[in-house]
Amino acid sequence: MSKGRFGKYGGQYVSEILMQALIELEEAFEKIYPTQEFQREFTELLRDYGGRPTPLYHAKNFSKVVGFKVYLKREDLLCGGSHKLNNTLGQALLAKKMGKKRLITETAAGQHGLATVMAGNICGLETEIFMGVKDIQRQASNVKKMKLLGAKIRPIKTGSGVLKDAVSETLREWASCSRTTHYLMGSAVGPHPFPTIVATFQSAIGQEIKQQILEKEDRLPDAIIACGSGGSNAIGAFKPFIDNAEVRLYFVEGGGEDLNAENSAAAFQLGRPGVLHGSLMQVLQDEHGQIRPSKTRAAGLNYPGRGPEISHLCEIGRVKPCYAFDNEVFEAVKIMCRTEGLIPALETAHAIAYVLNHPEEFSSDEIVVINFSGRGDKDIETILRHFYGA
Ligand SMILES: *Cc1c(COP(=O)(O)O)cnc(C)c1O
Repeated sequence: MSKGRFGKYGGQYVSEILMQALIELEEAFEKIYPTQEFQREFTELLRDYGGRPTPLYHAKNFSKVVGFKVYLKREDLLCGGSHKLNNTLGQALLAKKMGKKRLITETAAGQHGLATVMAGNICGLETEIFMGVKDIQRQASNVKKMKLLGAKIRPIKTGSGVLKDAVSETLREWASCSRTTHYLMGSAVGPHPFPTIVATFQSAIGQEIKQQILEKEDRLPDAIIACGSGGSNAIGAFKPFIDNAEVRLYFVEGGGEDLNAENSAAAFQLGRPGVLHGSLMQVLQDEHGQIRPSKTRAAGLNYPGRGPEISHLCEIGRVKPCYAFDNEVFEAVKIMCRTEGLIPALETAHAIAYVLNHPEEFSSDEIVVINFSGRGDKDIETILRHFYGA
């Protein structure tokens, strides 16, 4: 397999001026990541600042509801409330060792922006966050937190004023300042080497799942379920299991209101391969190849592309692409709240909803791991509005 390719997916579809920055980043990652010094500092940050390892929790009450044994990988307990920090700590540390002074990135729900400024502060790097104007309105509480932590917020008005537009603007900015600035990519997307770097840092999730389930059950799980758009929490959970063919892997994307291109984010159902943000991947597009905006109530799943590795794993049948509709997702939030006293992020609730609504996929003697990618504090208003109006 050629560098940065997953089957036909991936690659570096970028303008000439970005190539130098990508080559520098690839070389730095290959040189710095394997060193003992980097490994020691990264592991220490994940443990003492982030709170790793996160628990693998046997959700007994939820298991009773579905009729098989369910474990939750508690990424909601990682500092910041989602899996995002695994990646931002890794990249910020790398940027610091590359001599960069500043981080730029984009964010939708604000979880990645928040995790970036946290990591930036630890590593002594300035942080600037590009955010669609629509997302700034929708995610006021995370915007306040990012400002409090000292991040500069750059409002993006182009396009539809959402995540895909912010990514385009960040890539444009990076082309002009990559000598001093690292683009801290938020998911397993973008041109090579980003998808590989992000998957590497996030695979702490899957490595822990493997070790923890062997300790608790003395065998591997039958299935792992993860939600996703770009796919960083999913590929992080899946990667150490890809060669364990007996472990079924499910990727749950945002079905939105229904499976209609106007109302959905289900790129594996409604999209086809195309180039977005420097990479060939599965992507929502119209008949002319123009990117279609995605639609889902979960801001973190509202991206029209699927990372190249997940795109490939779905194409070859190793990962099953699935979706959950908004209505099912809100019901799943309620059931998780009532059975386990945990409020999942709307993104995470897609994985929970899939398990609840597809009993035919699992039998009573099976062990299923749901990657609990984040907590729902950021979504409380949306959830309450859904159930109780106004
Ligand atoms: C950002 C986010 C996601 C989606 O991002 P991926 O890169 O596709 O994993 C999922 N869950 C939560 C809680 C998030 O914050």
